[in-house]
Amino acid sequence: MEEVVLEQIIIYGTAIALCAITVYYYFAKQKRVSLETVKKVAIAKEEGLYEPVSLHPYIDLNVCIGVAACVKECPEKDIIGIVDGIATLINTSNCIGHGACFHACPVEAISLRIGTETRGVELPHVSENFETNTKGIYIAGELGGMGLIKNSVEQGQQAIDNIVRNKKPSKENVIDVVIIGAGPAGISATLAAKKHKLTSVTLEQDSLGGTVYTFPRSKIVMTAPMDLPLYGKAKLYDTSKDELLQLWKKVIAEHQLTIHEHTKVEKITPLKDETFNVVTAQGDEYICNNVLIAIGRRGSPRKLNVPGEDSEKVAYRLLEPEQISGKKIVVVGGGDSAVESAMLLKDQNEVILSYRKDKFSRIKPKNKEKIEEALSNKSLKAIFNSNLVSIEKDSILIKVAGEDQPKRLENDQIYIFAGGEMPTKFLQNAGIKIEKRYAHVVKKHN
Ligand SMILES: Cc1cc2nc3c(=O)[nH]c(=O)nc-3n(C[C@H](O)[C@H](O)[C@H](O)COP(=O)(O)OP(=O)(O)OC[C@H]3O[C@@H](n4cnc5c(N)ncnc54)[C@H](O)[C@@H]3O)c2cc1C
Ligand code: SF4
Repeated sequence: MEEVVLEQIIIYGTAIALCAITVYYYFAKQKRVSLETVKKVAIAKEEGLYEPVSLHPYIDLNVCIGVAACVKECPEKDIIGIVDGIATLINTSNCIGHGACFHACPVEAISLRIGTETRGVELPHVSENFETNTKGIYIAGELGGMGLIKNSVEQGQQAIDNIVRNKKPSKENVIDVVIIGAGPAGISATLAAKKHKLTSVTLEQDSLGGTVYTFPRSKIVMTAPMDLPLYGKAKLYDTSKDELLQLWKKVIAEHQLTIHEHTKVEKITPLKDETFNVVTAQGDEYICNNVLIAIGRRGSPRKLNVPGEDSEKVAYRLLEPEQISGKKIVVVGGGDSAVESAMLLKDQNEVILSYRKDKFSRIKPKNKEKIEEALSNKSLKAIFNSNLVSIEKDSILIKVAGEDQPKRLENDQIYIFAGGEMPTKFLQNAGIKIEKRYAHVVKKHN
């Protein structure tokens, strides 16, 4: 009898001890995760990534129960974390709006919002059928507020469907629709226009693919199939930038469509007969019945407007730095993009950073540390208080404050990072109303 009791005491005692150990390790892990997240939030604040720039999750702290389903389901890294059993935002400005957190939350504590209470986001006025307040001008894709490749592809097609529904009578020498931008929305619209036998022209300031073409990473996540006009459902969940670009190029080529790359649209003028005159930077003009604007939200790179800037050796973004070697390169700018590009190029090239101010300010602490180290070990050179004056075939002229004459530097390639120009004025000139939205809820559980 005593033996049985003793056995039971041992069994219960072991079970209690195991439970205690499990609970101890659970809370210890929670504490460690919380501390790590607090650190990440502090770094995000320092690096300016904490405040959202556009679409982002909003967490109702009174409803959150801290099960971390949102953290697990988010395909991006460190957008949301858990501190002391409650969800918190981390690198919110890296959120690209998959909405996986919104769907994963079992207690509906998350809504998706554009802008915050203090930082508004300018959005154009667009109706449910993608038409703006200027009749005949439509907007599709991220410019309208909702990001993601799949959404943009859907909207490009739907906007064209609506143009077909409201089709204006055909006129001689008047194109049915001019599509501006060849990102996911513009590509899809171009294919949809062909499907509906509309006459169309697609103009792209840069290269086919839009933001996808400029992705710094190869990985692309799509949480649902993409329905591409003239192709059907593309089930690319975890794909790469190359695979997606190849698919778009293949469909475009198969249907003998032309996308006019390196053609920036500068102006859309509504005409008296309800047509539009679309004017490009090269001065070409297109008269059309409808315009579909699919230019995303990244704007156009700001130019310096110096002689020679249209040369082929000038670029406004850095793609595949590992392919560039043995060149004399000037990087213009003093922000994070300029500093990061100079750092990526310096090991295989001779790099000079030209910046108009006397020191780097407002750059991420990590970049500051790295650039200071590179300057002190002379693996790259910086010329502060300098402005690019002109660009020639094998050299450039830069003017340094305090020096009488501009300096000539041998040069093979230039990267200019002078910020971006947002399309607000471009849209307003076409008569489109822009509204500033603060903490605007785009998805909420009912
Ligand atoms: C780093 C990063 C990672 C991302 N990862 C993913 C992901 O994994 N999955 C996903 O679904 N989404 C992702 N996204 C979001 C996705 O890339 C965008 O939502 C999508 O590209 C928007 O498509 P769009 O056609 O509206 O605009 P964009 O892709 O921005 O295309 C707009 C095009 O218009 C052109 N343009 C602009 N102005 C003019 C002008 N005046 N004249 C002529 N052309 C002009 C631009 O050059 C550009 O090519 C990511 C975004 C970023 C920044
Ligand atoms: S909206 Fe998307 S990217 Fe942003 S936190 Fe949710 S799942 Fe992650």
